[in-house]
Amino acid sequence: MKEFNPWTSSDIKDYEKLVEDFGISKLNDELNEKLSDNKYVRRGLIIGHRDLDLFLKQAERGEKISVISGIKPTGIFHLGSKTTAEQMIYFQKKYPKLSLYYSIADLEAYMDNGQNLETSKKIAIDNVADMLALGMDPERSIVYMQSNALLVSDLAFIFSDDVTVNMLRDIYGERRFSLYLSALVQSGDIFVPQTNNFGGPKPVLVPVGADQDPHIRLSRDLAFKHRNDFGFYPPASIYHKLIRSLSGDEKMSKRNPDSMITLSDRKTDIKRKIMAAFTGGRTTVEEQRKLGGEPEKCPVFDLYLYFENDDRVISNVHAECVEGRRLCGECKLEAIKMVSLKLEEHQSRRNEMIDIARDVIQKGNESVKNRPM
Ligand code: SF4
Repeated sequence: MKEFNPWTSSDIKDYEKLVEDFGISKLNDELNEKLSDNKYVRRGLIIGHRDLDLFLKQAERGEKISVISGIKPTGIFHLGSKTTAEQMIYFQKKYPKLSLYYSIADLEAYMDNGQNLETSKKIAIDNVADMLALGMDPERSIVYMQSNALLVSDLAFIFSDDVTVNMLRDIYGERRFSLYLSALVQSGDIFVPQTNNFGGPKPVLVPVGADQDPHIRLSRDLAFKHRNDFGFYPPASIYHKLIRSLSGDEKMSKRNPDSMITLSDRKTDIKRKIMAAFTGGRTTVEEQRKLGGEPEKCPVFDLYLYFENDDRVISNVHAECVEGRRLCGECKLEAIKMVSLKLEEHQSRRNEMIDIARDVIQKGNESVKNRPM
């Protein structure tokens, strides 16, 4: 079986195979119908789930439920972090009894990237302001820095008793021990909503990129191992596709800023990045007119999928592209206009959220600083 881990995986050409190899379930007709108000689901950007059907039934019965995910605060929000955030916010808006938990993984940033905690703290404020600007309800959200959460590190410590290096090697491949440790810390995060500090065991959903499934598998295994002492529910999960690089590579990289659009980009950055982007267009205008373009290979088309709210606009772009009625130059100019407008609106909302973001983190840090009860 192919090794697949959250730190280096960049080659996910075949999502079907990924689903098959790791036992992820595809969204069936019933789930597609239930989540038809979710644009990521409608647009095929969600590749699968674990126990989402069960989670939704529990939500529909009015049970107390939670959604949790996190971010490694090594940079400004990009399309991947925006997608995770929008999934969380979607569920928060849909279910009034749902609490949202968001971990700022500054320990992972330290272990994986050598970034000091003070830098992570500054970046985290911007990241949380982005979450608020995207619609997160601060009253029903717990946002905290991992390094501040004694609750999380204690859980990781407790879990370590049930985990061997061989088990971690099977899931993550051969890694530095710090990355194994950071995987246990992430499991600690995933179980925060179910601790007695937050009202005890409850169904939890984790929206993440497809490359994060190893953390979910480890956490589900740990829930099973600790069913008698903690009674935790195994976390349900929902996976979105990884965001393709503007250069056409399989996955964008924070290490190459021009490979991705970030939510802080100004119009000049957006223009430069999109004009230089790879497309699914043909080599000549004549060929494009005759054969049509290939939007499924095109990172510019992806920008419509991720930024445009109106499905009809996307259908038009797609039809005009495949029928050869749209050329890449004009399509890029249109994408620049659309993305610039959306980001300008977002940035002005975010600027108003900085103080609230600081308060939300401070409040969240307070709530996770105690040991598990
Ligand atoms: Fe991509 Fe647009 Fe060119 Fe089609 S016309 S390949 S969507 S840039």
